[in-house]
Amino acid sequence: MEKTLRGVGVSHGVAIGQVRHMGTAVLEPPATQIPTEDAPREQARAQAAVEAVAADLIARGNLAGGEAQAVLEAQALMAQDPELMADVSRRIAVGSSAERGVYDAFAAYRALLASAGEYLAGRVADLDDVRNRIVARLLGVPMPGVPDSDEPYVLFARDLAPADTALLDPTLVLGFVTEEGGPTSHSAILARAMGVPAVVALPGASDVAEGTVVAVDGSSGDVLVEPSTEKQDELRRIAAERKAALAASSGPGATSDGHRMPLLANVGGPADLPAALEAGAEGVGLFRTEFLFLDDSAKAPTEEKQVEAYRKVLEAFPEGRVVVRVLDAGADKPLDFLTPADEPNPALGVRGLRTLLEHPEVLRTQLRALATAVEGLPVHLEVMAPMVADRKDAKDFAEACREAGLSAKFGAMVEIPSAALRARSILQEVEFLSLGTNDLAQYAFAADRQVGALARLQDPWQPALLDLIAFAAEAAQAEGKSCGVCGEAASDPLLAVVLTGLGVTSLSMGAASIPYVRTALAKYTLAQCRRAAEAARAADSAEEARAAAQQVLSGE
Ligand code: PEP
Ligand code: MG
Repeated sequence: MEKTLRGVGVSHGVAIGQVRHMGTAVLEPPATQIPTEDAPREQARAQAAVEAVAADLIARGNLAGGEAQAVLEAQALMAQDPELMADVSRRIAVGSSAERGVYDAFAAYRALLASAGEYLAGRVADLDDVRNRIVARLLGVPMPGVPDSDEPYVLFARDLAPADTALLDPTLVLGFVTEEGGPTSHSAILARAMGVPAVVALPGASDVAEGTVVAVDGSSGDVLVEPSTEKQDELRRIAAERKAALAASSGPGATSDGHRMPLLANVGGPADLPAALEAGAEGVGLFRTEFLFLDDSAKAPTEEKQVEAYRKVLEAFPEGRVVVRVLDAGADKPLDFLTPADEPNPALGVRGLRTLLEHPEVLRTQLRALATAVEGLPVHLEVMAPMVADRKDAKDFAEACREAGLSAKFGAMVEIPSAALRARSILQEVEFLSLGTNDLAQYAFAADRQVGALARLQDPWQPALLDLIAFAAEAAQAEGKSCGVCGEAASDPLLAVVLTGLGVTSLSMGAASIPYVRTALAKYTLAQCRRAAEAARAADSAEEARAAAQQVLSGE
């Protein structure tokens, strides 16, 4: 029976396909005792599950080839380790179920590895993955992590961490739906980067059965469960028409009366460049360098590896502007070797620039790698720090950049309300500002961006957020410096018009949003943008602000 679920649409377009759920990360089987006579049967079940998981890992390795094959084969060997299997059998003989025996035997082996020096400790995550696979198979639940599927699918998850999403095959994921996560969560950001439709904060997402056909409308936030074939055809037709209209848009961003608004792309690394170029991005407004660090959260990537990735991004825009953000670790992007494990409130803890100032060697290496990467290139390199709270932060960052001999503009992200309120003082130390509206909303409203239930407060149309943006933009104008937006607010076409009216000087977003924003801006004059901005700021809620701007722009 067709029904409609409603969440928050965060990445435009329509995806129609079968649901595949992201498996839960940790499965702890109940510690129930089994009768002794069941032990041989349970031992056989455990053995069969281990063999099936090992065979699956080897098969996936053959498919993947290269470095991934070596990793998957090593995992298959771990699964079949004779001592580990002997321990599983012993545990079952004294009353454990197959799944509990596997779980406990792996836990004991894990503790051994974790204490056995850096190299083996680094293998703990691989061992956990093998354990989770065997336990999932025994429990008959979906495999943990990214679904194993050869067919394209719509990914359903509670939420997606950047580390999970790094493993997704973009050719198979038609769209995302998550139960948690607000409009600024990493699921939303990733969906936009991949150019696939997405809906977040959808209550009941985990109850939609595996294999069900759904239609996800990333603009309205509607998810149709089991839509009729007629409905599917209609949605496909509308999506194709919209896409064709947008594909016709090109050129630099500007209002209808020629006020320039550079449209830049947010990228996580070289893999995002083709989409950025195709969308006609005029440069990169936010290079989230932490994605280079997520492959192995136990240590930083080497300076050479960093130089290589930075150079590829810098070369893609020979005459353009590329704004690189130094590592933003912590909170929802923890790194084992940098992020304290025991913070009561990681989002309010040592993260972003704070982490780098505590680990100056990591910052130095990154800045040195950037200095090497930009050598001989005509690109306009700008480097900025995340989570700048005050003038001292900005000064410390600018000094580190100067010490590294970096020939670039240095800037500060405005993600903390204190930085927006005292933007002029921060601009005494740096040359530009970039508004990270995702975190700015999180901190202004004390609303965790990971929590779907708080989506109302993370709505970038909130007038208080618009006020903070206006403060920063006015300060930059008074200092004769630039102030862009690189948070997700920039990717909402109507809000982009309002941001232009508030005085920001560039807009950076996931590449897929650029044509939508370009088309919206080209419809209005700067004076209309300003009137829409004024009307939105005068409202008392996000909804009213949106409606007020719409009303001004439609000339009602
Ligand atoms: C932001 O906070 O708005 C931002 C651009 O940074 P991130 O989303 O990576 O935290
Ligand atoms: Mg941020």
